Amino acid sequence: MAVVYFPEFRLGKVLATSFTATLSERCGEALERIPVPSRLVDWLAVNGLAVDSCTQSQLDHARELRESIHAAATAVANQDPLPSSAVQVINDCSTRGLASAILTAEGSREWRLSSASVEDALSVIAADAISLLAGEREGKISLCASPTCRAAFFDTSRGCTRRWCDMNTCGNREKKARFLANKRKTSSLAG
Ligand SMILES: [Zn+2]
Repeated sequence: MAVVYFPEFRLGKVLATSFTATLSERCGEALERIPVPSRLVDWLAVNGLAVDSCTQSQLDHARELRESIHAAATAVANQDPLPSSAVQVINDCSTRGLASAILTAEGSREWRLSSASVEDALSVIAADAISLLAGEREGKISLCASPTCRAAFFDTSRGCTRRWCDMNTCGNREKKARFLANKRKTSSLAG
């Protein structure tokens, strides 16, 4: 049997923007990191939102929520009005599922999905997005400086000066490009 490799996940500390990062390089060669329903199941499990199953239409719905969060976050970062269709999708997802916050004996927070369905999981992601978009949390929604990425991320650094959605990918690529450009300049001066 052929082994199929799927793109790895980019996981951050913020649920809503980790979710929007399942599609990367939106302004370049877009990479879909949840190409099949089973990969959404995997992603949800990694993020403490284990579900029993996922159909293609649930995956489509999840992607619709994802792009709505991305659109709304981009609007907030650009200080534009929120797109009403995105707000509608986020609110629908938030109200459609049911989940409860659970305090564990170790003192951390977990989510209990009422029916372990994709809808329950999406309601948690939508609620997380709402708290970000409503400006309830300490930090700022920014867009990645990489022109092929432009991912929305939540900057919690002091002074909110972060430029990249992810230092290990976009940040590093920019650093490498700058390094090579400098090297070329130096060698052309020497030659
Ligand atoms: Zn980026």
